[in-house]
Amino acid sequence: MTLDPITLSNLPSNQPPAQNESQSWQTQLANVVTDAFELAVQLRLPEHYIQAALQGGRNFPIRVPQAFINRIKKGDINDPLLRQIWPLSDESVPPPEGFVMDPLGEASSNKAPGIVHKYHGRVLLITNGSCAVNCRYCFRRHFPYGENALSSRQWIESMDYITKRSEINEVILSGGDPLSNNDSRLFSLVSAIESIPHVTRLRIHTRLPIVIPARITTQLIQRLTSSRLNVVIVVHVNHANEIDEEVADSLKKLHQAGIHVLNQSVLLKDVNNDVECLVNLSERLFSCNVLPYYLHLLDPVIGSHHFDVKQAVAQNLMALLQARLPGFLVPKLVKEIDGRPSKTLIDTPIAPT
Ligand SMILES: *Cc1c(COP(=O)(O)O)cnc(C)c1O
Ligand code: SF4
Repeated sequence: MTLDPITLSNLPSNQPPAQNESQSWQTQLANVVTDAFELAVQLRLPEHYIQAALQGGRNFPIRVPQAFINRIKKGDINDPLLRQIWPLSDESVPPPEGFVMDPLGEASSNKAPGIVHKYHGRVLLITNGSCAVNCRYCFRRHFPYGENALSSRQWIESMDYITKRSEINEVILSGGDPLSNNDSRLFSLVSAIESIPHVTRLRIHTRLPIVIPARITTQLIQRLTSSRLNVVIVVHVNHANEIDEEVADSLKKLHQAGIHVLNQSVLLKDVNNDVECLVNLSERLFSCNVLPYYLHLLDPVIGSHHFDVKQAVAQNLMALLQARLPGFLVPKLVKEIDGRPSKTLIDTPIAPT
């Protein structure tokens, strides 16, 4: 396909008004921006960036909620939030050795529909629900998880899998993004899990509270806090700028309701690969009552190599971070190696004094 020459002057000169963040989360989710032109106009990006975005976006479309766009600095192609969502031409070059389609072997660890069972005592449940945001570095970029909603028969099969294994005491809702499911679907899922006696903990891995903070409704909090399950929410923030006041409010609400909130990040070149940035992130998270959990080394998925930070560089960063922060604000540096019984902890050298 050849593209017509693109000039920003062809685009509507009036910027679309920034969407109102007081809209319901459903409306915000339905109106996520998927169009490179629209985003380029809103964010005043140079026109040559659009070509690359159109090309990269063909494999893994642009997708970003307005509430997240509002936190991106206009006209700054190096903005750390923009880099997470904007396809660069780097995505389309042949991948370096070691970068593959399915680095975690998830395609082959499906034990029952929607179930990924790799670790003792806990299972991932892929609840469908597409993501509200498409993160360019995501290892799921080549899998249409979001399109595979489980049928009711498959539900029964996956619940059956958990019921039959009494050693499973924790179910982790994953996705896609489990919180992009509507409440009725989400709550019936929670009820189904509650009815399995040996499950005591429910964990929700989600980026929704960050990209559409309005998702944290009173109704959602009530359902989770009235559960007999102990609830842990693991959000995903890579840079302190992702937490504006609205996000902070949502995160604090969860904490005030007695829900544990942890954060996982991915170490990303030109997004957060610097000590100050990681210090600020941990401090900002804690100011919202969130504790850092994991800092992941990038999973080597095709199309993401330009985000890669070498392990030795990451270890040095961790040493510096450890010398700056109280221990409880230092995330664990981990990587996922297929076939291991847990995430693999990467040890940290001692920073030179
Ligand atoms: C990461 C992951 C988990 C959770 O691991 P924790 O170390 O408990 O956070 C569980 N199952 C799978 C398949 C995972 O990839
Ligand atoms: S699974 Fe997480 S990291 Fe991947 S695109 Fe969705 S929100 Fe982003």
